[in-house]
Amino acid sequence: MTDAVATANRLADRFAQRAAAFDADAAFPTADIDDLRDSGLLGLMVPQEFGGHGAGFLDYCRVAQTLARGAPATALLFNMHASVTGSLAGIPEDLARAMGATDGFFEHRARVLEAAAQGSMYGVAITERGAGSRLSKLQTTYRPDRDGYRIVGHKSVCSGAGHLDAYLVAARAVDGTDERGQPLVSHFLVPDGEGLDVDDAWDPHGMRATASNGFTLDMHVQADALLGGVEGLALPLAHLMPQWLVASYAAVYVGVARAVLDEACAYLQRRTVAGQPAGLTRLAAVRARIGRADADTEAARLVLEDAARRIDAAPGDPDTNRAIYRAKLLAGDVAVDVAGSVVEACGLGSLTRGSVLERLLRDARSGPLMPPSSDVAADVLGTAALGLDPHEGTDIHPW
Ligand SMILES: Cc1cc2nc3c(=O)[nH]c(=O)nc-3n(C[C@H](O)[C@H](O)[C@H](O)COP(=O)(O)OP(=O)(O)OC[C@H]3O[C@@H](n4cnc5c(N)ncnc54)[C@H](O)[C@@H]3O)c2cc1C
Repeated sequence: MTDAVATANRLADRFAQRAAAFDADAAFPTADIDDLRDSGLLGLMVPQEFGGHGAGFLDYCRVAQTLARGAPATALLFNMHASVTGSLAGIPEDLARAMGATDGFFEHRARVLEAAAQGSMYGVAITERGAGSRLSKLQTTYRPDRDGYRIVGHKSVCSGAGHLDAYLVAARAVDGTDERGQPLVSHFLVPDGEGLDVDDAWDPHGMRATASNGFTLDMHVQADALLGGVEGLALPLAHLMPQWLVASYAAVYVGVARAVLDEACAYLQRRTVAGQPAGLTRLAAVRARIGRADADTEAARLVLEDAARRIDAAPGDPDTNRAIYRAKLLAGDVAVDVAGSVVEACGLGSLTRGSVLERLLRDARSGPLMPPSSDVAADVLGTAALGLDPHEGTDIHPW
């Protein structure tokens, strides 16, 4: 997989040249996505039998961190696409068949994955106003409709909305609950097209070039758009195998922390103070901030890669899932802490509009609030450490 990381490294240099312009306009980074498509990286998580790289989670983490060093927003778009292709590719055939998946589901999955290897790009649409990403609270509904389903609702944030070939949409059944009385929540892969109307209103503080607009949806989809071929899989999967909902973001934000550190070092080395080249590097307080940022970033990377190895070896294991939440919590918090600290070391020059550090500081701030937010991830870990029942023992439900 060193080839994919080398490709990502080459692309990251190109993305870095374009990032300021896409950020200024909060525009979808079309040129970056074209590069990803041309390089074959959109097929990273696609099994080799369908024309992709057949990568594992650790490979994904290394590629996403590398892309984030060039352009965090483009890496976040890549993360959403990898989450769709990675989770689809990762559904074990015997398990899916045991749960009732039909031949139609496997044929549809093969078509979706082959298309990704050839350059189709996908996104994820869970978040709704009032529900955030809590799957159990979603208001978008689906119901049986002729040979498939009708999905109706509004998604408030979806990276790349209006620029992608299909969207993984989470919706709840109009009728039907599980044995806990929770609504049946399912994922559908919804193709772009009539019935999906984007609200072009995205103008946030950071990660601006994700073009994460919302959309309204009123669309008929074929039966095989139902992910896994069975209704009600979204909540159990979020609890049992949260890697593509949780740890995949961590890779992007560890990459952001590393980008911050690299840029701060470059800034301090080129900064002249009172005629002295690299003058600020003579200050012990400045060096100590860089040293702490280096240690924190490397610690977050090691925790991320530990989680990734566990995901590849033992997906769904309770220890794997704890490692996943640790990785997300640390990556989001470290990216923000490192960015906040090094701009203090670098001074106002690093906070000037248009400077790379100023953009990375804004991008880093999204890390802790991407799902599950740092507070929610910490609560999940605390609940487990205290031996409390995650369903009955606390007020906070991550999903
Ligand atoms: C750059 C960027 C890209 C994004 N891209 C996508 C995307 O592609 N697809 C997508 O679906 N979403 C996307 N999101 C949205 C993201 O998932 C949401 O921001 C997140 O789910 C939180 O929702 P919210 O911001 O509306 O917070 P709110 O729901 O308003 O909540 C505010 C805070 O309170 C916490 N909170 C609220 N209620 C509870 C509760 N009951 N229990 C515990 N904690 C609670 C939340 O975790 C959050 O920290 C993106 C966000 C960003 C910043």
